[in-house]
Amino acid sequence: MPEILEIESYRQLADRVVGAAISKGWADTYAAKKLPSVSSWARAVKGLRITGTSRRGKLMLIDTSGPTLGMRFGMTGVLLLDGRSGIEGLFYGPHTFKKEWVRGGLELSDGRRLLLHDPRRLGRFEIEPNLDELGPDALSLTKKEFTTAMTISRGGGAAIKARLLDQSVLAGVGNLLGDEMLFRAGIDPNTPTGHLTPGQKDTLYTCLRATLKQLQKRGGSHLGNHMPARTPGGICPQDGGPMRISVIGGRTTYWCAKHQH
Ligand SMILES: [Zn+2]
Repeated sequence: MPEILEIESYRQLADRVVGAAISKGWADTYAAKKLPSVSSWARAVKGLRITGTSRRGKLMLIDTSGPTLGMRFGMTGVLLLDGRSGIEGLFYGPHTFKKEWVRGGLELSDGRRLLLHDPRRLGRFEIEPNLDELGPDALSLTKKEFTTAMTISRGGGAAIKARLLDQSVLAGVGNLLGDEMLFRAGIDPNTPTGHLTPGQKDTLYTCLRATLKQLQKRGGSHLGNHMPARTPGGICPQDGGPMRISVIGGRTTYWCAKHQH
């Protein structure tokens, strides 16, 4: 599943078409699911010039001479750039290209095409997406923003793992990145957010930054330290402790019973 690091790589790919004009756009019923109708995308994008790209968490944004365009990639979505050098961008998800998996895209006046390739059909296009629904971006998160995001007004609140994955609190952290930063911080993912000590929050922020930076360098969210142990009966690569599995916030979570408290 693409997480913030993957979406950031798509954004970098989309950056190559900045300056180009959109001659045509199209979307199938899945990609258009959040739009008023299936033809909304085609009508909205025709003739726009692409002026820049940005991102908030897992939502990629394309700035234009008109409305801001949004792309979400769901479980298996990949952004592809189809041009003279062939198809670029098949780094994540299925590495094979199938025409029937293209849900929509933008055709540029220079002949290149930006495509949403998505076997599971959960990727979505948006026009002027509402950014108020999303918390601060995890890749550029300041310590102050993190502290605010992790502050619970009353009681323990949700488990820290669920809190990290709540996109309205913090945008961009998905299942694998969430498990990896808690693994590194030595924090039990079930801990109610409000019960974390100031010291644990400091450590978690440091580990969040380090996880994103290192995994971006390694090439993706799936390259974390805890990944080899992400299997039933797994053994912690750090201390040989038994790995536990449970579902937290609706997502399968792995953690070490020995060093995560
Ligand atoms: Zn361990």
